[in-house]
Amino acid sequence: MSDHAIRRIVIVGGGTAGWMAAAAFTSLLDQRELEIVLIESDEIGTVGVGEATIPPLQAFNHMIGVNEDEVLAASQGSFKLGIEFVGWGAIGERYFHPFGPHGQDYRGVLFHQFYLREAKRRPLPDIREWSMSGAAAELGRFARPAPNSPMPLPQLSYAFHFDAGLYAQFLRRLSEKRGVQRVEGKIVDATTNSSSGHIQSVTLADGRAIEGELFIDCSGFRGLLIEEKLDTGYEDWSHWLPCDHAAAVATPLTGPPDPFTRSTARSAGWQWRIPLQHRMGNGLVYSSAHWSREQAEEQLLQNLEAEPQAQPRHLSFTAGRRRLAWNANVVSLGLSSGFVEPLESTSIHLVQSGIAKLIALFPDKRFNPIERDEYNRQMQEVFEDVRDFIILHYKATRRDDSEFWNYCRTMEVPESLATMIELWRAKGRIFRQGRELFGTASWVAVLLGQGIMPEEQEPAANAMEEAFMSNAMDQMRLSYRRTAEQMPTHVDFIARHCAARQQA
Ligand SMILES: Cc1cc2nc3c(=O)[nH]c(=O)nc-3n(C[C@H](O)[C@H](O)[C@H](O)COP(=O)(O)OP(=O)(O)OC[C@H]3O[C@@H](n4cnc5c(N)ncnc54)[C@H](O)[C@@H]3O)c2cc1C
Repeated sequence: MSDHAIRRIVIVGGGTAGWMAAAAFTSLLDQRELEIVLIESDEIGTVGVGEATIPPLQAFNHMIGVNEDEVLAASQGSFKLGIEFVGWGAIGERYFHPFGPHGQDYRGVLFHQFYLREAKRRPLPDIREWSMSGAAAELGRFARPAPNSPMPLPQLSYAFHFDAGLYAQFLRRLSEKRGVQRVEGKIVDATTNSSSGHIQSVTLADGRAIEGELFIDCSGFRGLLIEEKLDTGYEDWSHWLPCDHAAAVATPLTGPPDPFTRSTARSAGWQWRIPLQHRMGNGLVYSSAHWSREQAEEQLLQNLEAEPQAQPRHLSFTAGRRRLAWNANVVSLGLSSGFVEPLESTSIHLVQSGIAKLIALFPDKRFNPIERDEYNRQMQEVFEDVRDFIILHYKATRRDDSEFWNYCRTMEVPESLATMIELWRAKGRIFRQGRELFGTASWVAVLLGQGIMPEEQEPAANAMEEAFMSNAMDQMRLSYRRTAEQMPTHVDFIARHCAARQQA
């Protein structure tokens, strides 16, 4: 290790973000002369929600060297092939946002261009029928593609539903085994170096001071170090994302768990339904300017499929991001770095993305500003990209049944999103090069699903022979359907590979 190497990292907070960071550091940093301390407070607890993920989490589990089935068995996990959206474009409509691509591209022209052309010639079923994940989800089936699986199975892409508290406990056991020192205690203060402005230590309620060279702030919404100590500032996006409250409650399962999340739009927000192995996670995300807490709770409870297992838990938040994800010697991860509502299950991914970027730009004791600036630039980009995708769901609606939807439908959106929508509207174009999240298929699913049909398609799609493409599309659709029919049911797959070992 060089003289400048960081030798002591202090992680503040033991929610999903804190333990993901701890597990990743033990896997990717040379630990011979490195101490990793994680401080958490049982008295404060964690946010206690966050059950749905997106496919990159597979890579995170692989990176930290854990077996996916073990993770699912430990966290009551199930598989997620996408999200079914109900009532978003208009009341009574539904569509599916599948993971993985739609169809197969041909001679450099994206599949959806052929779909758009064909849809003008004859009535076509929903584009989900040209998706491996979409077809499997519709039948309640699941299979994990192997490297040598024949097409189209390798197109199936999946993520997980799990109990995030159990996932964090799993990561805690792993991290402690690998040498992370866990400190239980409530942080009441922090000391800073008067010349550099860097945090030197945090002080616990019992008077203990814990020193560090690099601090990872995973303390949740409050941002104990990044905000309360360093005054970093928060960029508020609530004018684009007006939902600012949530109520969550679990119910028993009433049937086998579906391999997808469902999001149902309501008149001032939306309701999630996330099936785990042992229960259904439910929650309502809503705008407090349009619904009171009591109205929201009533909406949630009257739309459950079974009796709630407890009183609903209420949470509040402000959509936005910390102006600097990394300030001085503090890197914020998780809720302390910002929050975009869970409509596309992106928060845990933003933790993962922050960890990966931090490892790639890992500082030494000299804290070269170029590393910090680049980290902040990259995190801003990924946060804004997620923001735009979520705003799209609100903007691209024809609903006019409430003040909330009238506001969303007519609001100004960020320029970056307005451009995306205009490019799509003209000739179905989507450009996602260099973007880490939500590829073309995701944007196509939401744009088409919420009723924005492009006026034309790319000239290159028109150049392909019509009868040949039409026939190829029918064959493709059939092959997704047949492949899905041959898969085990989701519930059988879980029973065979990752049935929960512990009762939560
Ligand atoms: C309604 C809702 C639904 C969500 N759904 C999803 C979803 O489906 N998918 C998804 O990816 N994400 C979801 N999220 C986000 C997800 O819950 C979080 O991103 C994730 O749990 C990480 O939280 P965290 O670790 O940053 O914070 P927390 O879970 O709040 O953990 C904070 C930690 O800091 C500690 N701490 C705080 N103050 C102190 C102190 N003074 N001293 C010592 N310790 C302290 C606490 O004890 C705790 O250990 C959702 C969030 C909300 C609000």
